[in-house]
Amino acid sequence: MSRQGFITQGAITVKNRQIAYVGRKDSLPKIKAEKVIDARGKIALPGLINCHTHVAMTLFRGLAEDKPLDNWLEKSIWPLEANLTWEDVYWGTLLGCVEMIKTGTTCFADMYFYEDAVAKAVEETGLRAVLAQGVIGANVASLGKETLKQSFFFVKRFNGSANGRINAWFGPHAVYSCNVELLKEVRRLASEKNVGIQIHLAESLEHSKKVQEKHGISEIRLLEKIGFLGSDVLAAHCVFLSEEDMQLLRKYNVKVAHNPVANSKFGLAISPVKELLDRGVCVGLGTDGPASNNSLDLFESMKFTALLQKQHYEDARVMKTWEVVEVATLGGAKALKLKNVIGSLEVGKRADIILIDFDKPHLKPFHNVYANIVYSAKGSDVDTVIVDGRILMEQGELKTVDEEKVMREAEKRAFNLTTR
Ligand SMILES: [Zn+2]
Repeated sequence: MSRQGFITQGAITVKNRQIAYVGRKDSLPKIKAEKVIDARGKIALPGLINCHTHVAMTLFRGLAEDKPLDNWLEKSIWPLEANLTWEDVYWGTLLGCVEMIKTGTTCFADMYFYEDAVAKAVEETGLRAVLAQGVIGANVASLGKETLKQSFFFVKRFNGSANGRINAWFGPHAVYSCNVELLKEVRRLASEKNVGIQIHLAESLEHSKKVQEKHGISEIRLLEKIGFLGSDVLAAHCVFLSEEDMQLLRKYNVKVAHNPVANSKFGLAISPVKELLDRGVCVGLGTDGPASNNSLDLFESMKFTALLQKQHYEDARVMKTWEVVEVATLGGAKALKLKNVIGSLEVGKRADIILIDFDKPHLKPFHNVYANIVYSAKGSDVDTVIVDGRILMEQGELKTVDEEKVMREAEKRAFNLTTR
């Protein structure tokens, strides 16, 4: 995608789950279509890609507010998570999947517990995902061993599942919550299975300081030292970075998932996305879990990305609108090792397409498509969603999941959790 990439009076055809034609309608070859969608007044865009979330945390939405990260995690979230069941994760994920489909996200990266419940929800709703069963164990060796074993079996069982829509990766929680031996073992297994690794990295100054005090070097430098860094590592946050850290991310082609809303909400700093992009680091966009955002709407995150970068650098020229859209689509595809599969509307790629209804007062007049997408559109303007050539939502109506039932069941479970 580029500024030149916009086609007016366009048409797209889909065959065997793939995009077969993209271009002007008047050049469309004659075909007999099984199904025709009239997209007049709408904009077709590659489905948005959420590079970092914990979808089942929809159940905790709005439950612990106005708390700093450590307090939020240790006093509110971890005690609740200790009581989570497989069914809770399943219904919480379904709720998140409904929200994602309705706001134009077609693919997401997730790391959590009971990740097989997440996989089931992905399979049923028709979304695409890169999933990781979380690995954790800083001080308790047996916990690290056990969670790594579960993670390994998850990769074996789910990588390539749901007709190829699910890729299973490893998901060590963070440098401060996994010891060096555990991280080395994750690296070894990920290379052996040829799958990627999702990890939280350089999220807060306190975590970075802890690692610095213990090891005498930064989190990223430590990961380099133990041979962990690589082009298959997707690092969420990367807020606190030195010049050397940024150079290491570039050198090893580490991918970054930028989560502007969650970072702001915890009062953390702003990730130097402009400098990362200038150095050629691949950046995708994430929401983080719906308990720390509190939304899965990537339109909102696109707007935050543009605004915060401009503010951070005190320069209105930073993060142009089309760059933001590229980060949320093709950037995400590259970050998830799916750049040949999704992320742009190109012949031969999988048909992951959204239609945004531009016939709305807040999207008039139509001077600049990218400005309208980043600054004026909302997730609720998404009208139709197609993943892998299958229609998941048409004219606002969900096709693969019972929205009412999911809302009722998820809410019941969320209330039940707080009283357990
Ligand atoms: Zn996270």
